[in-house]
Amino acid sequence: MTYDEVVHLSADEMYSIQEKGLKWTVRHAYANCPFYRRKMDEAGVTPEDIKTLADITRLPFTTPEDIRDNYPLGITAVPEKDIVRIHASSGTTGKKKVIPYTRKDLEDWAEMFSRCFKLAGLTPEDRIQVMVGYGLWTAGVGFQAGIEKFGAMAVPVGPGQTDLQLELMEDLQVTAFCATSSYALFLGEEVERRGLKPRLKLKAGIIGSERWSDRMRKRIEELLGVETFDIPGMTELYGPGTGLDCQAHEGIHYWSDYFLYEIIDPRTGQTLPPGETGELVATTLCKEAMPMIRYRTHDLTRLLPGRCSCGRSFFRTDRFLGRTDDMVKVRGVNIFQSQIDHLLNPFRELGSEYQFIIDRAPGGKDAVLLRVECRPGFSGDGNGLAETIKKRFFNFVGLTPDVELVQYGGLPRTERKTRRIFDRRLDL
Ligand code: ZN
Repeated sequence: MTYDEVVHLSADEMYSIQEKGLKWTVRHAYANCPFYRRKMDEAGVTPEDIKTLADITRLPFTTPEDIRDNYPLGITAVPEKDIVRIHASSGTTGKKKVIPYTRKDLEDWAEMFSRCFKLAGLTPEDRIQVMVGYGLWTAGVGFQAGIEKFGAMAVPVGPGQTDLQLELMEDLQVTAFCATSSYALFLGEEVERRGLKPRLKLKAGIIGSERWSDRMRKRIEELLGVETFDIPGMTELYGPGTGLDCQAHEGIHYWSDYFLYEIIDPRTGQTLPPGETGELVATTLCKEAMPMIRYRTHDLTRLLPGRCSCGRSFFRTDRFLGRTDDMVKVRGVNIFQSQIDHLLNPFRELGSEYQFIIDRAPGGKDAVLLRVECRPGFSGDGNGLAETIKKRFFNFVGLTPDVELVQYGGLPRTERKTRRIFDRRLDL
């Protein structure tokens, strides 16, 4: 279904598409994938038991561990001759998660991507530079296919090669780009250093694959003169492009004719009502090669009730607030990176980078150090600033870290994902 068709659907029509998709997915998975058949048999549920969307809670969860345990292609639900491509996610430990696609899966994914460019206000006249990795990773080739389907001009540079990126950006008068937030910041700082901004014609940046603070976002927008858009996605669910924030920036519109989302309490597995924050659980509604049924994404977010001020009826989630599995527990307190982003955000004296380091101090107590970067040219009262940050940290999180101020540019920027939480208690 195209953007123009789906944007006009009523809530009832969307419900009926989702219900049909759920029933199809469960039947397809049960009939063609021994993994799902076994899971459903163990849970005592059959495809016939799924009559409405509410029945989804009778189905068992699928986890990232299930995919790893069935490496490489054990959760496939189509004959091998129908698989036309695989991608693999970059896991930090153990084997990668390998995800197969049929031709239709790839077409559906490109359709989703093409809707994202539309939401970002782009047109087929635009020239979009792809600055993310090609290959096993879904990002590069996903963006590429989406741009071509949308009808804009793809400039497929891939990651890094900053001189080449800037040369093509200027010479081709590129109007939009896709990048990780850390690379976009790095590129923006290069543009500023070289005084290139007046010669560029950028208007939009589509930023994927990692969390970013409002401060970092604003900095990228200033440095490059763009409006930025948050593009979530994971390999298990096709890849990036599963949704985008629109120009109202009030949460992420996701393609609810392709996915059914639930939010659960990550500890109990209980479904939470709209508006409450928990773990996102996703079910695909027409994915052929590897359907995902109640897939636990380990991403924290919430479903947003009500309609976006842009007027579109697409369902929304909030931005992704963190991962259930990279939360750190310090002196009995759960801390998410998004909380740290949020509490540092109001400090105009600070740059966008920080490191939160937890170490084992003598006596077994956790030592917590927050290293924060000052904004360019900061020359105010460093001690006073550090004290204010400590106080605010205590008010928000319930513990007081040591605070070390670092000169602007003193913390590392990388072309890959920037790590901000370092748990050195694990290094022993
Ligand atoms: Zn909107």
